[in-house]
Formats: sequence, C-alpha cells, structure tokens
Amino acid sequence: MKMPTKFRTHCPFCKTHTIHTVERVKKGKASSMTRITRQKHRQTGIGNAGKFSKVPGGDKPTKKVALRYRCNVCKKAYQKKCFRSGKFELKD
Ligand SMILES: [Zn+2]
Repeated sequence: MKMPTKFRTHCPFCKTHTIHTVERVKKGKASSMTRITRQKHRQTGIGNAGKFSKVPGGDKPTKKVALRYRCNVCKKAYQKKCFRSGKFELKD
C-alpha cells in the first residue's frame, strides 16, 4: 500500500478539514534473540512446517502499521487506529 505524506483530513483540534502530514511511528528495535525467535529455532518440523507457516507460530503475513498525523495548522499530532498491511510506503 502506498500513501501520500500530505493530505486533507479532519483535525479533532481545529474541528475542520486541514492539511496533515503523516509520520510513521517508529518501533523500538527488539533484541535479536527474543523468546519467540528462540522457539522458532527449535521448531524445525517436517518439510515446510515451522519454516514458512503462517500463524500460529511464525510471523503473520501482514504487519500493523502505526501512523501519526500532524495538523499543519495547529501543529498538534494524534494517532489514528492502526491497520494491517503487508507492504507500506509513504510517497511524496
Ligand atoms: Zn488542527
């Protein structure tokens, strides 16, 4: 999914439609060997099992995308409900 970095949407502070800039909410980097990755390393089943399994166990095919919207008029930022997307890009 591609999304423009600037678009008009409703600002809850101005209570009207204004231009917003979109920022991605950065996640803290997880340690390379978490409990789950260690579990995955142990589970090497027969054939594809444990390797390319979609849910449960393996990584989900889509990731949640968290976005922050900043109003260009009042400069206040707020987060909306995040959604799931496989591939997410912000374009200018
Ligand atoms: Zn505003």
